[in-house]
Amino acid sequence: MQSSGSATLNLSSLLQHSPGAPLDVSGEGLFTPAPELLEADGLRLEGPLRWRLTVINAGGDDDFVLEGSVEGTVVMECRRCLIDVDTPVKTSFVYPMAYRPSDLPLMLDEDGEEGDDELLVFGSPQVDFSAFLTELVAIELPITALCRPDCLGLSEEGVNLNEHPELAPEPKHVKQVDESPFAGLKDIDISA
Ligand SMILES: [Zn+2]
Repeated sequence: MQSSGSATLNLSSLLQHSPGAPLDVSGEGLFTPAPELLEADGLRLEGPLRWRLTVINAGGDDDFVLEGSVEGTVVMECRRCLIDVDTPVKTSFVYPMAYRPSDLPLMLDEDGEEGDDELLVFGSPQVDFSAFLTELVAIELPITALCRPDCLGLSEEGVNLNEHPELAPEPKHVKQVDESPFAGLKDIDISA
């Protein structure tokens, strides 16, 4: 089990290529992304993100498959009244992964050898998935949020009309039938 507070896996056992090497490495836990990661994606979180990852040896020398999920609660603003709305987000994913020794962090190589697939490239056996998982949560967010389907929004003075519905503008009156210039006709009894 990985320590809570981080989202890292040590894949060195997968890279050994010895007969007894494991076929996959798994981990799960909770982590809170660093402030700069949240800021980069404009995210506010209600609590830590829950993650689960498995890296599977795909049979090639340095080819792997990453399978996992991440979930959490993101705080968004209601698009009408601007109050905070807890928005649950959950996503699961599968990515091809390749090991290319370097000093670089985990990153997507969109021009990889996998054709149209996005290839995740890691440079060292100790892989930090924090930025990747944070990005996936940001991508999964809905574009806007509503605090409730019938949110009344704000008045022109900025008052939350859900808290003060009496300030909401009166619904426009539908023109009454008896405002018709011929309204008087209905009283004529033609059978008389
Ligand atoms: Zn609202």
